[in-house]
Amino acid sequence: MPGKDKFTAVERSAIMARVRSWDTTPERLVRSTLHKLGYRYRLHDARLPGKPDLSFPSRRVALFVHGCFWHRHPSCKRASTPVARQEYWLKKFERTTARDLRNRVELEQNGWTVLIIWECQLRGARWVPEVQRALKAASRLTWTRKFGVQVNRSP
Ligand SMILES: [Zn+2]
Repeated sequence: MPGKDKFTAVERSAIMARVRSWDTTPERLVRSTLHKLGYRYRLHDARLPGKPDLSFPSRRVALFVHGCFWHRHPSCKRASTPVARQEYWLKKFERTTARDLRNRVELEQNGWTVLIIWECQLRGARWVPEVQRALKAASRLTWTRKFGVQVNRSP
């Protein structure tokens, strides 16, 4: 069925185009917003599981900016499954989500806090205070781990 194949190719290239532009926009927005707020971070640190998009070593926070389509944002309409070649896509999605989970578990086992910002959340601004709160909480946590629970000493 040549007509059907043609449609599949178009659909596929539309998806690929979306994926290519993905790399630049959402991650950049997160980087520049947090940078302006004074946070400093590492990018794609290869020593950490999954090379987190941003990492904050002193707070032990790993932050991933996930595309809803590839990483299968639960109950998000952007996480649709293409009608053609479903088996191909489902296998691909399964590999991605399994890898995400493995990385998350490995990071958490090493005492890291894992934050995920979904692409669709970037349309609003609510992610900003949420991430700030999480970073603050994580830095309290690492402080406690490093120096123990703070005790009020008498002078
Ligand atoms: Zn989403």
